[in-house]
Amino acid sequence: MQTHTKAPIPEQQVEVRPEASQHPDLEERDAQGVLEYMVEHFHPRLYVACSFQKEASVIMDMLVKIEPAARFFTLDTHVLFPETYAVWKQLEDRYGITVEVYQGISIQRQAAVHGDELWNRDPDACCGIRKVAPMDEALSKVDAWMSGLRRDQSPTRANTPKLAWDDKHGLWKANPLADWSEKDVWTYLFENDVPYNPLHDRGYDSIGCTHCTRPGAAREGRWTGDDKTECGIHG
Ligand code: SF4
Repeated sequence: MQTHTKAPIPEQQVEVRPEASQHPDLEERDAQGVLEYMVEHFHPRLYVACSFQKEASVIMDMLVKIEPAARFFTLDTHVLFPETYAVWKQLEDRYGITVEVYQGISIQRQAAVHGDELWNRDPDACCGIRKVAPMDEALSKVDAWMSGLRRDQSPTRANTPKLAWDDKHGLWKANPLADWSEKDVWTYLFENDVPYNPLHDRGYDSIGCTHCTRPGAAREGRWTGDDKTECGIHG
């Protein structure tokens, strides 16, 4: 497949304001309908956050069929699994895209400033450096973003809307798969022969950094032994 050269993200042309009346809630639309709406109203100032978990694979496959020049970004913490880096490359090759990368300071610099293995001593601080700050930088460049959150992933995600104003980052956020089940995701991946992270087949329902991810159902394998349940990028 031909690779699409990325043009710079254009400057904002109109003021983006959070009035509820500005956009419908999209609850009646299916995932395809949400993606079409977001492309129509926001592309190219629209980003998809890509974690290289199975939901990202679904969104990528659907979205490039609607808009081949769709923009994807990832937060490279430098401590992702080899399988995650591998499927990242596989997806880029399959869809002819380049996933844009945002990242914090190097692991070496983090250790020099904050001490070794910050993820063990203060995971909130580590996520702040490696995920939250790069995320803020990425989202400052666009008017809307999309994620693969699903309501059945955890109690904290049970009320995830399909489209809402993201107060924390000051832009619109869509979750096209909000009402999808685990089975819906797998059915889509197999029916469309979409590449996905093989760690899912080894008991990892949720996949993050190597230091903070264990096999487990739903999000049980994230930050095991700690009260922490989210990295802070979803508000
Ligand atoms: S998930 Fe763990 S290693 Fe990754 S940024 Fe957060 S605390 Fe650091």
